[in-house]
Amino acid sequence: MKSHKYIFVIGGVMSGVGKGITTASIGTILQAKGHKVNLAKADPYLNVDAGTMNPTEHGEVFVLNSGLETDQDMGNYERFLNRDLANADYMTSGMVYKEVIEKERSLKYRGKCVEAVPHIRDEIVHRIVESGKANNSDITIVEIGGTVGDYQNAMFYEAARFLKIKNPKDVTFVMVSYLPVPPKLGEMKSRPTQHAMHQLMSFGIQAEFIIARSEVAIDHKRKEKLANACNVPAENIIAAPDIDSIYDVPLNFERDKFGDMIEKTLSLKHKQIDISPWRNFVTKTKKARGVVESENPVKKVHIAIVGKYFDTGDFVLSDAYVSIIEAIKFSAYSLGVKPELHWLNSKKFESDTVVDEKTGKHVEKVLSPAEITKRIKETFKNIDGILVPGGFGETGIEGKIAVIKHAREQGIPYFGICYGMQLMVIEYARHIAGLTGAQTAEIDPKSEHLVIDIMEHQKKLLEAGKYGASMRLGGYPCVLNPKTIAGESYSKAGWTLKVGEKHPSGRVVKEGIKYEIQKSSVYIIERHRHRYEVNPEYVTQLVDAGLVFSGTSPDGHLMEIAELPRESHPFFLGVQFHPEFLARPLDPHPIFTAFVSVCSKKTK
Ligand code: GLN
Repeated sequence: MKSHKYIFVIGGVMSGVGKGITTASIGTILQAKGHKVNLAKADPYLNVDAGTMNPTEHGEVFVLNSGLETDQDMGNYERFLNRDLANADYMTSGMVYKEVIEKERSLKYRGKCVEAVPHIRDEIVHRIVESGKANNSDITIVEIGGTVGDYQNAMFYEAARFLKIKNPKDVTFVMVSYLPVPPKLGEMKSRPTQHAMHQLMSFGIQAEFIIARSEVAIDHKRKEKLANACNVPAENIIAAPDIDSIYDVPLNFERDKFGDMIEKTLSLKHKQIDISPWRNFVTKTKKARGVVESENPVKKVHIAIVGKYFDTGDFVLSDAYVSIIEAIKFSAYSLGVKPELHWLNSKKFESDTVVDEKTGKHVEKVLSPAEITKRIKETFKNIDGILVPGGFGETGIEGKIAVIKHAREQGIPYFGICYGMQLMVIEYARHIAGLTGAQTAEIDPKSEHLVIDIMEHQKKLLEAGKYGASMRLGGYPCVLNPKTIAGESYSKAGWTLKVGEKHPSGRVVKEGIKYEIQKSSVYIIERHRHRYEVNPEYVTQLVDAGLVFSGTSPDGHLMEIAELPRESHPFFLGVQFHPEFLARPLDPHPIFTAFVSVCSKKTK
């Protein structure tokens, strides 16, 4: 029998230098060689899932089709593999410990003393092995979160070491390490990486490959030095200088024959690589950005993203909204245009923070409706499209609603995602359907017209203080009205599915699950993460006022997509789900593409 292979990707020196992208890129090249690969992440946190973590501190919460709330790296894995991941591909220390403690409480260890070694270690090994089985893969690539030497991730190293001694020929380690070039010295230093390798050795692990991350490519002299100090052949040290796009990495690995080297190390059958679809995508991104010469001049599309966390700096934003940013890019590049994103804090369209003359303290000065209109007009003068992403809570809500009203009245393309759809419905209810004071139960459950409300079973979970996983989470089928913007866009992209049909990324509509699936209809599957829904009691009034619900749950009860007909607005559309989770470089999301396409046609 063919033995299963394991590749562990671990970090040396410091975090944030591209361990996740390295893992994803190894997956891309091995998959392009025709190997069956799965990618898994072991996160050191004690949180049982990533759902309770603040996105501005930890980055976006990425939701899998199963509904599991995970780390943003899982999003990169799906984008690089161009397919859905399994539940078993993600674990946190919290998950592992919870499982072991629950087993202990139910006497599954039969009176034994339960300890980190062997019990936690064995649970980790078990999960890694299971992730391979869940994907029916031949190679499992596991990224261990954090850096060697952290207290938190030591059990993951122990599990990896144990797997290696049990299967010496089937396990290899790749260390992604950083080699600084201190400006005063002007020379690359390999010493921190040597230390990291020695620390790894103290865990009983010898990495066989080093990915040398640095500002510039590591030179031959330093490769030799590092090789001698770290017991790694110089040819197994892969130069990984800073690059301007993460999508170049698989091509760089391919150029350096990294895939061939892994095949040799793990005694895998050598296979030819075909990476042309990926290469074509990268070429398109370069042409659209003007990095390489193109037949067409660079055309910029200005898209404003209006949200609440936006005064925390670009650094935080790119992590908190990574899937949305990438989804816009994939669609834009496929259309040959370059997206320019403008991050706008919606509070700016409600009030100003001013210094009170008497007390000297900072206070909020509410703007008058005329001041708001003036500010919005000025801000959006040169904007081609507006996107309001998902969010929670009260902050900046009225500012977002004012912006949505402006987009509707001025014919500016508008795309609302999750909260952005709910607020679009509220705006329409208030200003067109005559439902003054329309509101979401999230902000004021006592309001007269709760056009957005909570579902009963979720109410019960919240009353019991169970916030973790209390939302509608993961992939749900949705039926489309074919003669709408949404209906046409999905069908043009080949994303619609009949019962039992499988999308190449793995999405399939099963009969009998979740609501009343009809054999005759076509569906899409999209991923959710929200507590509130359009209140079915208001649907007739909203439809009578002109809003079209172009996608609903199969039983027709839940409104999944709302839009205005093309005749009244070029693009005014909101989705209750998170389409950004399904956007892939090789398969851009149809609604993002429709939105960016309308934005790029906007002439002023
Ligand atoms: N806060 C809203 C809800 O829970 C929207 C959530 C979101 O945008 N992800 O329904």
